[in-house]
Amino acid sequence: MQTPVDIKPAMHCYACEPARLKVVDFPNPRVWSAMDEDWKLPKNWKEIVMDAFKDRLDRFRTFKLFMDICVRCGACADKCHFFIGSADPKNMPVLRAELIRSVYRRNFTAAGKVFGKLAGARDLDYGVLKEWWYYLYQCSECRRCSVFCPYGIDTADITIIGREFTNLLGLNIDWIAAPVAFCYRTGNHLGIQPHAYKSMLEFFQDEIEEVTGVRVEPSYNRKGAEILFITPSGDVFADPGTYTCMGYMILFHELGLDVTWSTYASEGGNFGLFTSHEMMKRLNAKMYMEAKRLGVKWILGGECGHMWRVINQYMATMNYDIAEGSKLEEPVSPLTGTKFESAKGTKMVHITEFTADLIKHNKLKLDPKRNDKVKVTFHDSCNPARAMGLLEEPRYVIKNVCNHFYEMPSTTIREQTFCCGGGSGLNAGEDVELRMRGGLPRANAVKFVHDKYGVNMLSCICAIDRAVLPDLMKYWVPEAGVCGVHELVANAMVLEGEKEKTVDLRNEPLAETEDAEDV
Ligand code: SF4
Ligand code: SF4
Repeated sequence: MQTPVDIKPAMHCYACEPARLKVVDFPNPRVWSAMDEDWKLPKNWKEIVMDAFKDRLDRFRTFKLFMDICVRCGACADKCHFFIGSADPKNMPVLRAELIRSVYRRNFTAAGKVFGKLAGARDLDYGVLKEWWYYLYQCSECRRCSVFCPYGIDTADITIIGREFTNLLGLNIDWIAAPVAFCYRTGNHLGIQPHAYKSMLEFFQDEIEEVTGVRVEPSYNRKGAEILFITPSGDVFADPGTYTCMGYMILFHELGLDVTWSTYASEGGNFGLFTSHEMMKRLNAKMYMEAKRLGVKWILGGECGHMWRVINQYMATMNYDIAEGSKLEEPVSPLTGTKFESAKGTKMVHITEFTADLIKHNKLKLDPKRNDKVKVTFHDSCNPARAMGLLEEPRYVIKNVCNHFYEMPSTTIREQTFCCGGGSGLNAGEDVELRMRGGLPRANAVKFVHDKYGVNMLSCICAIDRAVLPDLMKYWVPEAGVCGVHELVANAMVLEGEKEKTVDLRNEPLAETEDAEDV
């Protein structure tokens, strides 16, 4: 704790550009850099932080509890992927939290006020603030450490509040601030305007027709549709998510689903979660306002990570009344009649739950042999796994569309899954060393199943994973590709009126064609 922070290049993200903050009225927009001596803080920055500290202690009982109850047993110490990959002690969850807890003790406990350092307390000074910023943005809020804490302390929650403090001073990172500003203004992280969003899906229509011989016809902003579909914009604009997006389009077409896409609520992800509770609430609201405007009965959500954390962990109290006056109701599958009771409150169903239900009721014609060239493993994305317990559905789907599925070691999957290394807004280009180090434990487990079973495909249900894992695999396990689950689903689907299929959605030969050529 006494060692001053050493801010290293490639281990942190660039500071946010002032224009991003202005869009959402966030404080202290200015040009600054973490490598500068002077971070150009407001004169009363300590007062701002201390007022916010007191406010959060009053508002969030968990935060107060987590400040008080850690017994420093160390059970969490070696559970963080950033500690494993960097060997930096301040990346141990217990120490990361202690950076903030020490200031709490000094200012909010009698022992800390009287005994100071002896009670593990310290003053908040410029060096401590810089240390906060550096290590709060080296935590991907993955919550793996909380699984191992005997008291259930969730260090991610401490990071979330800590980042709120930094945001009040204008200390953000551009890879979070830019998506927030874009999402607020145009409805998605990438700032894609409605016509460009539609053009991309039209491009996918052509691609799908070329591969399958079937023309799919999505609808946009259609009032009176039964279902509104919302997915992360990464699926629409970045490979390999684009193949997953094509998978959704094929699935909806084949089912004849009464579903519409929105070019306004065109983002499932919510980077507000990485800035403040208020921003998260504002960005979450757009999905429900669009559902209300279009008069849909329920929302189907694509393969995303933190979107589902926000829906499952915050909606009940954050935007609980937003569906009032809308036609939203408890979601029911129009194909199987299944009531999704877990979505009764949120009115939003995860697409792997929806598809697993279809498969269970024999509503899809599947030929898993079409995926025979891939030996697949599944990366449990942190948020669907730990924040919503979505463990079985994706596996059930994959096992029905692929013949070769292999699990990574049990201590690296399900609730104990390792982060991709780029969650919570850390998926920038400039912090590549941090990402490669943080992703090491996940990559190591993929390497294990690659060496043992020949696994060559890492599937996942998160758009950030699909953006982060390809680089990670290229660096640590170059033999493994990355895909979404609905890419595998669509590749295995036998479509009404399809032409003889020789290639998959990536326009690469199917396994049997390769075999035929080999013969
Ligand atoms: S496991 Fe829990 S109680 Fe033990 S050091 Fe970590 S946070 Fe503290
Ligand atoms: S939440 Fe994840 S990244 Fe943050 S300290 Fe815990 S294990 Fe590390």
